[in-house]
Amino acid sequence: ATNDDASDKEVYTVATDNGYVPFEFIDEDSGDLVGFDIDLINALAEEAGIEIEFEVLEFDGIVAGVSSGRFDVGIAGMTITEERQESIDFTQPYYEAGLILAVKEGNEEIQSIDDVDGKVVATRTGSTSQEYLEANTEANAEAFPGIIEAYQNVLAGRADAVLYDLPNVSYYSEKEAGGELKTVGEKLTGEDYGIAFPKGSELRDVIDDALTSLKENGTYDDIYEEWFGE
Ligand code: GLN
Repeated sequence: ATNDDASDKEVYTVATDNGYVPFEFIDEDSGDLVGFDIDLINALAEEAGIEIEFEVLEFDGIVAGVSSGRFDVGIAGMTITEERQESIDFTQPYYEAGLILAVKEGNEEIQSIDDVDGKVVATRTGSTSQEYLEANTEANAEAFPGIIEAYQNVLAGRADAVLYDLPNVSYYSEKEAGGELKTVGEKLTGEDYGIAFPKGSELRDVIDDALTSLKENGTYDDIYEEWFGE
């Protein structure tokens, strides 16, 4: 945290990513960082009476940057895992996701995760899906720093499939891929997203309490509705 001289208030740094629709991404028209996570953390900061500023980096650097204390907070559609909990603390869950496989429209060969052995499956470096592919399949997992590159490789025919978080795959397929990307099979895991803090952070408790309040007072539902409503 740094000091904001104008208000003499502490400014907390929030590490996030800018290529993970619809949680954190750059709005093409305004050039602003927008998304469900961005709205949520802004509302939480307001509820808690703190000031924040965003630092954008690739997903893979966020856990390390938060655990070292370089950032005060991390929010990036980050799944709460036991392994990550060894180096960072999380709030209560704020979003329920899970992994889904997707292929290019017209690919009938891959119908589910059982068909990926020996295939090139694109994913993102440092993600739960990279870990899933390595632990549970014989696929040739190819990890990219940004998930958009993974989708582009599938659409260009350089990768056979992509495995990633269902809300991101759905949103990307619908809004960015022009019907060229289709999900196959069932959702593979249940994963809860949490907001990350350095181990022992007192701010974690403040934000966790604010999250409870926003879930109770309807603000959370309003933000959810805005990004995921019909
Ligand atoms: N939920 C996934 C993970 O935690 C992916 C998150 C992301 O790409 N922002 O690994």
